[in-house]
Amino acid sequence: MKTGLLLDRAFTEHDPGDHHPEAPGRIEAIINELTASGVADSCKPLPERSVTDDEVLLAHTDGYLKTVLREIDGSSGQLSTGDTNFGPNSLEVARKAAGGLLGAVDGVISGELRNAFCAVRPPGHHATPDRGMGFCIFNNAAIAARYAQQKHGLKRVVIIDWDVHHGNGTQDIFYEDGSVFYFSTHQHPWYPGTGMKEETGSGQGKNTTLNTPLPAGSGMAEIEAAFRGPFTTKMKEFKPDLVIISAGFDSRLDDPLGQLTLSDKDFASLTRILSEMAGEFSEGRLVSVLEGGYNQAGLALAVRHHLEALQSV
Ligand SMILES: [Zn+2]
Repeated sequence: MKTGLLLDRAFTEHDPGDHHPEAPGRIEAIINELTASGVADSCKPLPERSVTDDEVLLAHTDGYLKTVLREIDGSSGQLSTGDTNFGPNSLEVARKAAGGLLGAVDGVISGELRNAFCAVRPPGHHATPDRGMGFCIFNNAAIAARYAQQKHGLKRVVIIDWDVHHGNGTQDIFYEDGSVFYFSTHQHPWYPGTGMKEETGSGQGKNTTLNTPLPAGSGMAEIEAAFRGPFTTKMKEFKPDLVIISAGFDSRLDDPLGQLTLSDKDFASLTRILSEMAGEFSEGRLVSVLEGGYNQAGLALAVRHHLEALQSV
């Protein structure tokens, strides 16, 4: 079985404007690296697919969807809900980003794929139920988690978010939902300001949110301790049916939007830890989706190491 890979120039067509860090060149850099290294050829290409309105509503409110449909109208601008720029093709590309992830979920759950990585943009983890922000329109990982539950009948999903920023949107969507566990390591204090240790979920979701805020300069020692310590303990109780990685590579050394210090090899190590966990609890089912990562050359290398680790499981 092969690792599924969504790698498509269509994801360069979301244009947030000149000099924006969340640039189309991020995808071009990944395509170039994965093609030149031969990694792309050794993966199974994932089909293009667009998310429907009903699928968007798995994680977002009807009011927010209507705002998106009204505001992203073929022109360029910024969502009224937050700091997310869009261009003429952004709605179509955002639908393909979330939809591609659903195709990956189908392939992994059917057993056709070993695991999968989706090199998509716009990213998703800052998008809350009713608010796009932080360069995010739809919360790709959250839609995929709910889709795996509703379409495929999986009970428990874990989302691991190693982006340098806290995934406030993903946390909000599942804060009172005990069936989806959210675990984040992130720089703190940093954008968007959420993700304190004390934020652990509420109601039915009590103790299914786990945050590890880390000071600037932190790296693999601190992050690996969080993965192998409190998180592993939680997963022994939670026993996920599916592992989703919100793979942000702005936690890499030398990212212009972050000050953590992970290396390319560290991303491979974290990937192996999560693959082993998926093997233990989830029959190996693991789907990873690109979030941040703004040093384009570094992002491409980190993604290659991540994919090579997924292939070596
Ligand atoms: Zn980020």
